[in-house]
Amino acid sequence: MFRFDDSEAARELAERARALMDEVVLPLEREVEGGTTISEDDVEALREAAREYGVYAPQVSEEYGGMGYAFDDLLPTFEQAGRSLLGPTAMRVDAPDEGNMHLLEMHGSERQKAEYLEPLVAGDISSGFSMTEPMQGAGSDPKMIRTTAERDTAEQRSTSPDPPEADKDGDEWVIDGHKWWTTNGVEADVLLVFARTDGEAHPYQGCSVFVVPSDADGVGIERDIPHLGGDPIGSTHAEITYDGVRVPEENLLGTEGAGFRHVQERLGPARLTHCMRFSGMASRALTVARSYLDEREAFGTPLSDKQHPRFELARRETELQAARALVRQAADAIAAGEKARLEVSMSKVFTANVTQEAVDTALQFCGANGIGKDLPLADFYESIRAFRIVDGADEVHLRTVADHVFEETDPDELDPVTRFGQ
Ligand SMILES: Cc1cc2nc3c(=O)[nH]c(=O)nc-3n(C[C@H](O)[C@H](O)[C@H](O)COP(=O)(O)OP(=O)(O)OC[C@H]3O[C@@H](n4cnc5c(N)ncnc54)[C@H](O)[C@@H]3O)c2cc1C
Repeated sequence: MFRFDDSEAARELAERARALMDEVVLPLEREVEGGTTISEDDVEALREAAREYGVYAPQVSEEYGGMGYAFDDLLPTFEQAGRSLLGPTAMRVDAPDEGNMHLLEMHGSERQKAEYLEPLVAGDISSGFSMTEPMQGAGSDPKMIRTTAERDTAEQRSTSPDPPEADKDGDEWVIDGHKWWTTNGVEADVLLVFARTDGEAHPYQGCSVFVVPSDADGVGIERDIPHLGGDPIGSTHAEITYDGVRVPEENLLGTEGAGFRHVQERLGPARLTHCMRFSGMASRALTVARSYLDEREAFGTPLSDKQHPRFELARRETELQAARALVRQAADAIAAGEKARLEVSMSKVFTANVTQEAVDTALQFCGANGIGKDLPLADFYESIRAFRIVDGADEVHLRTVADHVFEETDPDELDPVTRFGQ
């Protein structure tokens, strides 16, 4: 099969991840009754196994409990994890915690790392990332952000005739807003909240990220938004209100006013890790379909002898290899310290659509077994649709690609064309 130029370290890690998937994760997945979720004990057992196989949190530095692999060495392992919806949870490379850990590792203070990053890596707590807001707040256009965070200094409070119920002497941030689609929001112990800190500045310079414990006064977990998506982990997508939520000054994550930059630093790699996990899903879906077509007979031959399914699977496999190559190129650029906006956008939009097509094709060729939940395809089918919207809808990424595409035109190419009246 296709070989990429992955390093020796990347291949060895992926080989251990493959063993974990084949020997532990897939057997458990096959035992779980379709449409149900696994228990916390199962999650703990999966993570214990990942530790034993040497593939637990490979993306995090060793000093915080991970394995310290370089970003571009992680690709094949994330692909392995994506072969089952349980894989990312087992290896602790699951969204949104994985992206949040990345952000905390990059910009967290020592206290934030000790209090939140280390327990996150250990799997003792979980997190959410609160950016998207209901209409007409932040969505595809995050500049439309309406959630605010205002600094309330101890000095201001001391002179106020009616001081708020703040029990600390130091400066605080007061967060007011309304977020939704915060993945993990219901169960999260800590929320990273994106808020506007300077109403006068352009949002690119006037937003910041805050670390907010989910049990802080004023955090209202309104509901888990009912949604499409088969999920054996049972993660939630919450609507959350922030009503005068007070956090100490030190809960600012990174630099004040650099929220957009920090989010971009989180989202660039997170989009690629999503692509890698979904490539693994596509690959598994095609494997399931090939196996079914090979065994199932109709009209006198195995279905795998018929030209139409053979060609369709050949097309999907080709598209998948192209997506994997694109993602690797983008990851190399990120590992080299580039922003790689174009490469990431191309990878995200292409992989999301290729995976959706692969899963749809696989489901079709498994007949009713594709719709049933004995096989993983129906859950894959429900999960993959969101990928064309989450982390930037197709159109938002195409906008980035189109800006690049239209940067260069060449009027000479049109010389031979006749104009009206010429
Ligand atoms: C399963 C799931 C999990 C999520 N998890 C999180 C999370 O953890 N944290 C978080 O903050 N958010 C999360 N989101 C929200 C997600 O990031 C947003 O849904 C996404 O950014 C789109 O924003 P919107 O829903 O407001 O769509 P809108 O901004 O209302 O856009 C609607 C549609 O308009 C089209 N469109 C947008 N812009 C353009 C354009 N320029 N040109 C042409 N067409 C365009 C696109 O088709 C888009 O889907 C999640 C969403 C889903 C579905």
